[in-house]
Amino acid sequence: MKKYTVGLGLLLALAGCSSTKDTHNATLTEKNGYVLSKGERSVAKNNRIRFLVLHYTALDQQQSLEVLTQSDLVSANYLIADQPQSHKGLPIALQLVDDHDRAWHAGVSQWKNRSNLNDTSLGIEIVNAGWDKDTGKLLGEPYNERQIELLISLSRDLIEKYDIQPTDVVGHSDIAPGRKIDPGPFFPWQRLAEAGIGAWPDEQLTNDYLARFELAPPTMLQVAKALEVYGYGYLDEQMDDVVRAFQMRFHPQSVTGVVDIKTAAILFSLVDKYYGKQKAVDILLPPNVAAVG
Ligand SMILES: [Zn+2]
Repeated sequence: MKKYTVGLGLLLALAGCSSTKDTHNATLTEKNGYVLSKGERSVAKNNRIRFLVLHYTALDQQQSLEVLTQSDLVSANYLIADQPQSHKGLPIALQLVDDHDRAWHAGVSQWKNRSNLNDTSLGIEIVNAGWDKDTGKLLGEPYNERQIELLISLSRDLIEKYDIQPTDVVGHSDIAPGRKIDPGPFFPWQRLAEAGIGAWPDEQLTNDYLARFELAPPTMLQVAKALEVYGYGYLDEQMDDVVRAFQMRFHPQSVTGVVDIKTAAILFSLVDKYYGKQKAVDILLPPNVAAVG
């Protein structure tokens, strides 16, 4: 409040010795029947954008562009072509929806106790045919180098601009487990993390948890809690789907939906790295035994 009082005093003082018009000239905008002043601004605010959601289109370039620009059901903030065009030697990213507008890419979704992620995220669609979850095989070509380089440059820019946290860079499958399987286990999450985009487990920390879990694996309840702490939102009956989504993201060699100890070790090492060692320790504590008085 003190800051505001000082600001107001200064404003009044300035109004006394020169004209308010001069002081605020640069911030006044004439509107239809009124004038808008941006001379005084609030400090308490945040941006709509908290999350970055990555997708593949499962369509070819032309179909992707047609659907994303002509459908009144789906859209994305950005589209990365399968062969991005260049301008002055730099690859072109297509912005289909401005950042401050909501694109319709996430659908029914949840992350970190927030739902309907269209409200709070940016969506990047990447042209790729995707994969078959029954055979575990690619349906077309892998993501190519130019796409990934462009994705890295674009994501880096957005992450910096909107201060998006590593654990808030997610795949569509992470926020809609069971319903969505993109960007799939062939997506190079590790490479992105090495370029500063999104989370990735620390190898040594994972090995420490692996050694611990070989002696005493965590309970399913503890695994469920760790998934929830990391960001996943789901109902009990969706556990397999969530584990599969987690494996697509962090353990793509083993997308089984079954919690093996490697999956558990990766999960707890991520909780440890991004939410603090104490958080991981707390989850792994045995249930409290009520003291008898
Ligand atoms: Zn998607």
